[in-house]
Amino acid sequence: MRKPLIAGNWKMNLLNSKVPAYFTDLEKAIHGVDRKKVDTLLAVPAPFLATAREHAQRAGTLIATQTIHEKNDGAFTGEISIPILKDLGIDWTLIGHSERRQYYNETDASVAAKTKATLAAGIHPIVCVGETREEREAGKMKDVLKRQMEAVLAVVSADSAFTVAYEPVWAIGTGLTASDEQAEEAHAFIRAIVAAKFPTLAERLRILYGGSVKSSNIQGLLKQPNVDGALIGGASLDPAEFGKTVSLAASV
Ligand code: PEP
Repeated sequence: MRKPLIAGNWKMNLLNSKVPAYFTDLEKAIHGVDRKKVDTLLAVPAPFLATAREHAQRAGTLIATQTIHEKNDGAFTGEISIPILKDLGIDWTLIGHSERRQYYNETDASVAAKTKATLAAGIHPIVCVGETREEREAGKMKDVLKRQMEAVLAVVSADSAFTVAYEPVWAIGTGLTASDEQAEEAHAFIRAIVAAKFPTLAERLRILYGGSVKSSNIQGLLKQPNVDGALIGGASLDPAEFGKTVSLAASV
């Protein structure tokens, strides 16, 4: 049985000065939750990483950055490197979120390069994959997932520590959620792709679902055998709602 991970992605929201209060409220909201039953993580804007790390400990929450550069240093204005992340005591990152692919030209190749660099440095990546609405409507969902996953699988090994987030682009920030069955179909497909190359890795790999997840739909999703948690955007901005989602996840 894989322990669920409930991860939030604040994107470019909230303020550094609001971070302490967020964690005070989150701590209250998840007080009494059996932490052996659920892991929690928040991917915060880079300038908040140090503050978030300091306060997240109270709420037993891991902190991640939202993207990472594959090179250790150099002339890459605005980027954040693995050594910068490690120096802050952070060892998780999102990679290849659909907004990075859509607005910042991230490709399967750059996602693979970032995944390879983070794994080599002992950083745990949450690698995001998922099809657009046009791709789903054209019947290409499985082709897209296979292409995206194979790029990642080319740079991992059977004992790599990483997580996959299946995020259908049409369900991100739109209020549309994949049905429990649609999520399960995609997750089972992703796990089968991994199993074809690394059977034991596939068994322990956590595959999160992302796309308008909130407290009202988390339990149905987590009841699916191949859904091992969630990556939550909008609904992670409210600590009470995020905490409620975590509590409900612990009781599935
Ligand atoms: C996300 O940002 O990864 C996401 C799934 O957003 P939302 O929950 O707002 O759809």
